[in-house]
Amino acid sequence: MESKLSKLATFMKQKYDNIIKNNTSLIETTKANNSSSDKASVSDKENSDEEDSDEEDSSYIGSDGIDIHVEFDTRISSIDGMSVRAYFTVYKHNKMIKINIDSKYITDRDSDDEFDTVCYYTTMLFNDFAKDQKDNQFVSYYIDEFMQAITKFSDIIDKLKFNRTIGEFLIEGEDDENEQEIKLMQDFFSDIKNISLDCEPCSICNEITKTKTECKHSLCYWCWEQLIINCDSSSSNKCPICRECL
Ligand SMILES: [Zn+2]
Ligand SMILES: [Zn+2]
Repeated sequence: MESKLSKLATFMKQKYDNIIKNNTSLIETTKANNSSSDKASVSDKENSDEEDSDEEDSSYIGSDGIDIHVEFDTRISSIDGMSVRAYFTVYKHNKMIKINIDSKYITDRDSDDEFDTVCYYTTMLFNDFAKDQKDNQFVSYYIDEFMQAITKFSDIIDKLKFNRTIGEFLIEGEDDENEQEIKLMQDFFSDIKNISLDCEPCSICNEITKTKTECKHSLCYWCWEQLIINCDSSSSNKCPICRECL
């Protein structure tokens, strides 16, 4: 009997293969228009699990700098109480699968000086390699590799705890040294009057946090999210200190 894991892994592999095949055709068509002589064949490779068809892709995708990847949304909507979008990114380039967990509500603003526009990026709360890069080649994935990635992901998410100080998910029991260091430094240096620190008590919950609003006020992501979720439609999300928009 086919397990849930291998069913999911098989589905992901098929979807990945199809998308890559279609994307490769698309790019090759574009390229064929630019340089008529270059005509690599993709259509004849019918879902073969072998590495043979991928070698010719590598040269030109690499040289064009196109990073083809396929995302799989896990449909997980919250982890440890934080609203998230959690997904796998399967890269064609470098053969790696990443686990990404982004905040559903909190975005980072980044202004582009050249055009003076402001871009919004979803705030990354966690990422890790589910399958680390082994080589620099374009090779197809095996079902086993998807199975390993899914297994690693499900093991990790079960242990994730949201850390207000750092503003990220940490794997329970790992890496709390950093948090401890931040708190000790803050505790010691906060008594000195003519300095400011990049970590201060959150404006709402008072937990020491590294995360700050655009207006430079300390606000942990936990409280930040609560502000956004609980704001009524008549007022937009405002900084609790200066009322600037979040
Ligand atoms: Zn807080
Ligand atoms: Zn503010």
